[in-house]
Amino acid sequence: MLEKCRRDDTCRVCGADDWIEVISFGSLPLANGFVDPADADEAQDAFPLDVIVCRRCRLMTLRHVVDPETLFKHYVYVSSDSDQIREHMRHIVGLATRRAALVPDDLVVEMGSNIGTQLAMFEAAGMRVAGVDPAANLAEIANERGIATDPDFFGPGPASRITEGQGRAKAVIGRQCFAHIDDVHRILDGVDVVLDDDGVLIIEVPYLLNLLDENQFDTIYHEHLSYFSLHTLSHLFGAHGLRVIDVERVAVHGGSIAVVAARETAARTPQPSVAALLALEEARGLLTEAPYRAFAERVTRVTEAVRTLVHGLVADGKRVAGYGAPSKGTQLLMACELTAQDITVCGDTTSLKHGKLLPGTHIPVLPPEEVAATEPDYYLLLAWNYTEEVVRKEHRFLAAGGKFIVPVPEPRIISVQSAKELV
Ligand SMILES: [Zn+2]
Repeated sequence: MLEKCRRDDTCRVCGADDWIEVISFGSLPLANGFVDPADADEAQDAFPLDVIVCRRCRLMTLRHVVDPETLFKHYVYVSSDSDQIREHMRHIVGLATRRAALVPDDLVVEMGSNIGTQLAMFEAAGMRVAGVDPAANLAEIANERGIATDPDFFGPGPASRITEGQGRAKAVIGRQCFAHIDDVHRILDGVDVVLDDDGVLIIEVPYLLNLLDENQFDTIYHEHLSYFSLHTLSHLFGAHGLRVIDVERVAVHGGSIAVVAARETAARTPQPSVAALLALEEARGLLTEAPYRAFAERVTRVTEAVRTLVHGLVADGKRVAGYGAPSKGTQLLMACELTAQDITVCGDTTSLKHGKLLPGTHIPVLPPEEVAATEPDYYLLLAWNYTEEVVRKEHRFLAAGGKFIVPVPEPRIISVQSAKELV
């Protein structure tokens, strides 16, 4: 399937071709490639998933790039409306308002704006908004709810269309999309077109240090091309005349960073947070090979431990279901080599996934209440970033003797007793 996937030996950030080889997961289907049961007998496209680190700029990335048209044109991910995400989106409105000194009528642009939930919050605060998202189905939903969204990949083209119609933006936001993008320079060329002289760019990405520290190997899949440190982002932004002026570690998506950058010509003084996080990254060895080697060893150990745990429960006659079917969950199941014999069904609230089979493992996805009706003894918590929220919501399941398996950073079991310490 090489026409849909190419090997790329040139670093997308700095152009070097000198790599540390970290770990290979073999060839796997796309984590978001849900299968229609009618097509279950057809072989799914599988692509290599090899993780490498650039020796020059320390970008952690994938050796192979799957064609974005294959990946994103019919993306089923609808941004979460969980309490945690809504609260976080409000936080981003506050951060942008502070750092860009936003006032009503200022323009806020979002790339990867999904169904427009974040922009709707800016609009409610009086700002003008414009979204860009390549998934035509999501852009259509956003437009229907009144958030003007250009169904395209963000870059100079969509940026020029926005500038011509509405002027330049005081804030450009990119939440949880930058890590998916191969041509990051094109994105930053687009930012250069649309960003006001004293505007700010806010890019939020899953944070490499969280990934390494917490064994989040399941967040490594084809859609996620880059795993950024602040070190690497500073290098990248600097090449485009942008300076990082603030950074926050935020709890979403298993631990992310929201990086605020401004034009170098804007003479903005960086907050102390920037030097502090760069110093932490150096102290934690991100500029050496050691943390990547140690990570690879832990991944091998944890995937084996999860598999052994689930196999043992199933052998004891326990019913194990999946809780949530996020992309990282499908990746975790594939990496742990679990099958529909082990995990009989996954419950997920996203209606677009109902009745479909998970990629690779072919585990069926049903609405959560239908999975609950099968009375599982254990749920493998695939959406582990919502552990506390789930434990609070599922107190009845726990009280009735049900248990959760949380797979990372190390597999552990949550019962009604241990849940009390969590919430
Ligand atoms: Zn590089």
